[in-house]
Amino acid sequence: MIKKTSDGLFVVFTGAPGCGKGTQARILKEKTGIAHLSTGEMLREYAEKDTPLGRDLKAALDRGEFATDEMIIEMVKSRIAEDDCRKGFILDGFPRTLPQAEVLEEILASQNVKLNCVLEIQVPDEIIMERILGRYACMTCGAGYHDKFLKPKVYGVCDECGGTEFSRRKDDNKTTVQNRLVNYRLLTYPTIPFFEKRGLLKTVDGTGTIEAVSKKIHEILLGDLIDK
Ligand code: AMP
Repeated sequence: MIKKTSDGLFVVFTGAPGCGKGTQARILKEKTGIAHLSTGEMLREYAEKDTPLGRDLKAALDRGEFATDEMIIEMVKSRIAEDDCRKGFILDGFPRTLPQAEVLEEILASQNVKLNCVLEIQVPDEIIMERILGRYACMTCGAGYHDKFLKPKVYGVCDECGGTEFSRRKDDNKTTVQNRLVNYRLLTYPTIPFFEKRGLLKTVDGTGTIEAVSKKIHEILLGDLIDK
């Protein structure tokens, strides 16, 4: 068990693309009410802007390349300072490089916030490919589905909102995923020993069902304090 929820809960979810960070962060947010900060979502929103920077960013994301550290750090810095983060947050997709990890330490120290845990969700590459290539989301409410593992109860209709239009992320194709996996090993993986040295790292096997994995995550982060 990491910490009582009443004291706040400040965690980082890390792991390869498709390991389930976003899905598990949404579930933990639902359960605890802490903020979910997905840098991927922030960047996708930014990339929709019809500006030179928006267009450059969109092209980079479509190729599976990272945004610059400067840009992402500015985004996270201002987001963390917002009111809904006071009781805690789940950082999903940040830090993704060692410089980002170092700056995160500084930002949190300046705001008197102590990270409780960096949770690495471990999933082998073969499973990741199958997960990513099959996933899609409701265009109305964002609920996530999968061709094989999580179909809507009624074909073509979103369980959550009744929406009938769905979309797939443009970077969820084989070539881009291969690129994202290479970038993960090269640029993100070095952050794991960085946090391990600080005694913050926990790992969880992310290969079970969504419910099984969230049960394990809640045990690690919340212990016996609340129903799993
Ligand atoms: P995600 O939704 O977490 O899979 O992120 C989608 C894409 O956004 C990634 O493949 C990166 O290109 C970019 N991205 C997300 N977070 C970061 C970050 N912290 N630093 C740089 N690029 C990022």
